[in-house]
Amino acid sequence: MNFRFDAAQEAFYQEVDSFIRRELPSGWVESSHHWPGGYGTIPDFEELNPAAEEFRRKLGEKGWLTISWPKEYGGAGRSHIEQAIFHERLSYYRAPGPGIATLIVGPTILSFGSEESKREWLPRIARENTRFWLAYSEPAAGSDLASIQTRAVDDGDNLVINGQKTWSSAAHVSDYAWMLVRTDSTASPRKGISLIIVDNRSKGITIRPLINICGFHSFNEVFFDDVRVPKKNIIGERNLGWYYAMFALEFERLVVPIGGFKRVFEELLQWCLEVKRRGQAATSESLMRSIMAELAIEIDVAYMFFWQTAWMIDRGLPTNVEASLLKLVVTELSQKLASAAMRILGPHGELEKGAKGAPLNGRVCTGYLDCISALVGAGTSEIQRNIIASRGLGLPWSN
Ligand SMILES: Cc1cc2nc3c(=O)[nH]c(=O)nc-3n(C[C@H](O)[C@H](O)[C@H](O)COP(=O)(O)OP(=O)(O)OC[C@H]3O[C@@H](n4cnc5c(N)ncnc54)[C@H](O)[C@@H]3O)c2cc1C
Repeated sequence: MNFRFDAAQEAFYQEVDSFIRRELPSGWVESSHHWPGGYGTIPDFEELNPAAEEFRRKLGEKGWLTISWPKEYGGAGRSHIEQAIFHERLSYYRAPGPGIATLIVGPTILSFGSEESKREWLPRIARENTRFWLAYSEPAAGSDLASIQTRAVDDGDNLVINGQKTWSSAAHVSDYAWMLVRTDSTASPRKGISLIIVDNRSKGITIRPLINICGFHSFNEVFFDDVRVPKKNIIGERNLGWYYAMFALEFERLVVPIGGFKRVFEELLQWCLEVKRRGQAATSESLMRSIMAELAIEIDVAYMFFWQTAWMIDRGLPTNVEASLLKLVVTELSQKLASAAMRILGPHGELEKGAKGAPLNGRVCTGYLDCISALVGAGTSEIQRNIIASRGLGLPWSN
């Protein structure tokens, strides 16, 4: 067992770190309102920013947007530990980086797509920075995703889609939907679902904004009225989409902004060191010290799960339980960090970004609201516990 990076990994860590510090627009880290783990404050989910696009273009030039993809499909062919190092550094600087296309869509196509789909979609995603949104949830299908109602029926070489998706993050700034549709209404719920790529410019798609708890436009409700999509856009085999989506969700749960926790922690620590109460640093109070020590432990634990999962992927070990574990640990940490920060900052924590004297640039105020989304998006905490109980512990499942 070795808990250290080897020399090549350490060199890569330094390379990524210096690249980000050199290329990230000045003031970015301070001004970003992203809360680690939150889905509602991801800047790209709100609107596209030219500076972020430029930074992402430079990452693409280095091959880092598709860092662990095989070289033949436009990737850099690096290990998952290196990918994890890259994500840790990016999230530490709250920097823009790879998105749904390269982290979720690409790996799913690599695992299950036909050779034709791979040739069609992977180079495009790798080269052009194509944007996808996840079209899974519906008004009556969230945790119970197998009960989706959006239907796709045959019409020659096309499928015709009718239905509604909801909580659709970034649909308004994306090029394609990565979508679950019901293609066989006679089969049992999980067996009649297909996974398909739908061009956002298709006739019959209406996107309506939903404003999130932080006041941002991060998600939407999306309506499909007789939307025609070529059948060749189905990924993998028709009617097996449910199983592919479970893998895609696993990829999503592995994408955690781990460095963001360390960053907020350091900012909070700095605040505690600078603020004086009765002439003494706030850190001399035992309650503050205890809260900070507790957070330090929890962040360390999350880091361990993070590195361990990347290590397992590199060895081809199954990580479906670990993906749920990591998601659970990290998203609950998101809430603990926000609550602890609010407790430490007191009423100052409620000051918004831009308000006079707002500590941490108002990040705690939005983070306190956004951390709730972390416990819900990509499968709620209860669902993660169910997965750990059934797949990890083998406990029987009753519906
Ligand atoms: C910020 C944000 C962004 C999102 N972005 C997207 C997106 O881009 N694309 C997309 O498709 N979806 C998205 N979602 C939707 C998300 O995946 C669903 O909200 C989530 O799966 C829960 O579904 P639901 O809201 O229908 O709640 P429900 O499934 O109705 O759950 C309600 C409550 O019941 C609990 N519960 C349900 N079933 C069980 C069970 N079997 N055992 C124990 N408890 C249970 C849940 O844990 C929850 O507490 C997003 C959600 C949020 C909050």
